[in-house]
Amino acid sequence: MAPNECISALGGWEGFEVCEWRQERRGAQSWCVLRLRRDRSRAAYCSGCWREAQAIHDLEWRTVRDLPLFEHAVELELPRVRVACAQCGPKLELLGWLEPYARVTRRLAESVTRLCAVMSIRHVAEYFGLNWKTVKEIDKRSLQRRLGPVDFQGVTVIGMDEFAIQRGHRYATVVIEPSRKRVLWVGRGRSREELRPFFVLLGPQGCAALQAVVMDMNTAYEQEVRAHAPQARLVYDLFHVVAKYGREVIDRVRVDEANRLRADRRGRRLVKGARWLLLRNRENVTREPDQVRLSELLAANRALLTVYVLKDDLKALWDYRHEGYARRFWSGWYRRAIRSRIAPLQAFARRLRLYLPGVLAHCRYPLNTSLLEGINNKIKVIKRMAYGFRDDDYFFLKIRAAFPGIG
Ligand SMILES: [Zn+2]
Repeated sequence: MAPNECISALGGWEGFEVCEWRQERRGAQSWCVLRLRRDRSRAAYCSGCWREAQAIHDLEWRTVRDLPLFEHAVELELPRVRVACAQCGPKLELLGWLEPYARVTRRLAESVTRLCAVMSIRHVAEYFGLNWKTVKEIDKRSLQRRLGPVDFQGVTVIGMDEFAIQRGHRYATVVIEPSRKRVLWVGRGRSREELRPFFVLLGPQGCAALQAVVMDMNTAYEQEVRAHAPQARLVYDLFHVVAKYGREVIDRVRVDEANRLRADRRGRRLVKGARWLLLRNRENVTREPDQVRLSELLAANRALLTVYVLKDDLKALWDYRHEGYARRFWSGWYRRAIRSRIAPLQAFARRLRLYLPGVLAHCRYPLNTSLLEGINNKIKVIKRMAYGFRDDDYFFLKIRAAFPGIG
């Protein structure tokens, strides 16, 4: 077999064969440039209507990238034909291995997409020697095609959460379906107006089907949910309540304690450096020195011990599946909080009491809070990998793609 035939057979560019090839060096990279010839006997199909075209309108030489061959980057030079379609007029020829107007072959695009799921755009671009923007566009188009419009059929319980796009300045909202672990919608902002497009997309029927909406307390979402789905119960999830408790109670008490210990330098340092230790779930403090530090800290600081124990107890409230029992447990917890005489704890308990119906609604609509936490963490990773630019659509597609749903 002659070399050209061999490369043609391996390359598999349907309807084309290699007529010439050359090797050249561009900077540090070696290139293999393959000139392809179109098989004239082959029928041409229209990329608009997929029908066979009777005539060729014109052709233009194009340069297209393909997967690398051994250590060489591969570039194809080929005549791109426009057919004279009776239906569509002049239209590019339909090719199975090359999309209309694409600058890379379909298989290279697929490899780029696959790598973009696990690597940053920059690394993928470097790996294939492609432009950063080209890589992003390839991945974006592929995600658009793969994800398509969201199917809202059967959606009855949703969760919504905000996340920071850039260091706490700009925000976006993500709407999830907890039962199927999928992201339904992502939009910029966290105001009522900015959430509205989701409900418009969901439609009146979808809104009427909503039974419960899980969210953080005290957000703008609440009013917008009331306006579109007044029948839906609001549910406050454990993840957010505990995070708020950490910020508003534990952090405050820790700082107050540190200030009180001004004279005791060692004690003060221990308290000041313990933020991470106190905010972590107890089961995640696994290193022995950390466990010892935590015990010492709690033994020496009554107020810290109290708020720490009450945090663990508060979490137990979300284990209940019976509202009556949950309410009784809450009353006990509330009494202890108020009697503690720790001001930040008392204030937190009083505020949380206003939201009690939404907290207890969790008994009927339990949400695995690790999902919201997981989505939060995943968004951080995606941000690092894909978001050195300002393409919201692409960023949001990446988030949807990371949680496509189960079942
Ligand atoms: Zn056509």
